[in-house]
This record gives sequence, structure tokens and C-alpha cells, in this order.
Amino acid sequence: MLQIEPVKAFQDNYIWLISAPGSNNAFVVDPGDANPVISALQDAGKTLVGILITHHHADHIGGLDTLLRHQQVPVYGPPSQRIVQISNTVTESSSIDVLGHSFRILEVPGHTREHIAWFSDDPALAHPVLFCGDTLFAAGCGRMFEGSPPQMHTSLQKLAALPADTAVYCAHEYTMGNLRFAKAAMPDNRNLQVRYRQEQAKRDQGLPTIPSTIGAELETNPFLRCNDAQVVASLAAESRLEGSEPWQVFGALRRWKDDF
Ligand SMILES: [Zn+2]
Repeated sequence: MLQIEPVKAFQDNYIWLISAPGSNNAFVVDPGDANPVISALQDAGKTLVGILITHHHADHIGGLDTLLRHQQVPVYGPPSQRIVQISNTVTESSSIDVLGHSFRILEVPGHTREHIAWFSDDPALAHPVLFCGDTLFAAGCGRMFEGSPPQMHTSLQKLAALPADTAVYCAHEYTMGNLRFAKAAMPDNRNLQVRYRQEQAKRDQGLPTIPSTIGAELETNPFLRCNDAQVVASLAAESRLEGSEPWQVFGALRRWKDDF
């Protein structure tokens, strides 16, 4: 059993605080800022014992130096020269123990070249858990800063193949903006209309929309629906379609979102 709580940072980042009942130990995922993490640890009475990193952007690693000055703990992350604080480099075949639960690494290049996601389907968990940084968002996906459409599409397909009940912990509260775009791409998707109302109700109460699930993303995230005739038709109506291969649909969709 793990408890996973959001620590809000900057405008719309979520740093995830992982703890376990009956233990004082905690991990954090992508600490872009140290101060909110230190406060959250103090409030929860937890001691930081490890840090998981998904990619090198400053809003995901900016708190590392301060946290490590407070306390030397292992930092697990991808082999990126731009994250000098990583003590334990991990790759696709790696798995590490997080408070008694085994997590494995999925390499998901596209947003950045060395982007990884952390996944556990440990049977002791209520459901599988995914920390996917800025690759898959609720109802959307990250921008392609360092990758190509085929590469990012393949990465998203890897996440889409995870069990439907996987809880998806992404790193930003971008959901409502993503859902507005999703409605433009899939105007007749009923699941999407229901989800829009549900997520808006959470935001109206100041609640996070995260975690999502892989099942919800498969139904309502246009970036996981590159075979959906509605998505293809919307791109054609926008004169953005350059080919019908799923990665081409994905690339056109990503460019449309960039301009949206
Ligand atoms: Zn990023």
C-alpha cells in the first residue's frame, strides 16, 4: 500500500509525495522546488529517503540541490548529462524498490530525449501506478521538445498499453485546457463531455484532477486515439492532415494543439 499526495509547486506543477502507512519514510517524484517539499514532509512527519526523476526540465529537478543539502538521499533518474545530481542511473530494464514496492522504468522519449516513466503493478498495490512526468497528461500530452512524432507516438502507445486501471500521475494540472482541445478534436465523444463536467467540478472545488487512469485516457485523450475517425475528420477539416499513419495523425494533432 502506498499513499500518493500532490505537493503543489509553481503555477501548476505537482510534485508527488509517496509514503506508506506505518512508515516514516517518503519518496518524492520530480521536485522542481524544494521548499514545498520540505514543508509537506514536515507536515506529514515523514523523512525523505529517495527521489525519482522523469526528465531534466528545471521545473522537475530545480529543488534537488536544496533537498540534498538538507539530506543526502539516492536520486534515481535517466542517464542525462543535464541532471548532475542523479546518483543511481536507471534504464528500461531497471527496477527499484520504493517503500517495499517494485517500480520499473519505461523509456518514453519525445518530450525530452531521455524522458522516463515509473510504473508499478506490484500486487500489494490497490491498482497499478504510473508517474509519467510530462509525457502523458490528463486528456493531453507533453510538447515534443526533443523528439519526433513517430518517437513520441510510440512512447504514448507504450503507456496506453498499461492496464486500464493504472492510476496516472502526471506532473501538471493542464487538464481543463487539454479537455477544451480534446472537445475540438472529438466533438461527438460522449465520454469526453461527461469527463469535462466531472473535471470542471473538481477544479471548481479547488481539487486536483490527477490522478487519471489509463482507461479514462484511452476513451477521452485524442493523443491516444490517432485511429479515431472523429480525430482524423477534425484534422482534415482544419486542413492539417498530412497522412493517415497513426504517427502522422499524432504529429498533426500535436501541431494543432501547439497553435490552439
Ligand atoms: Zn518537461
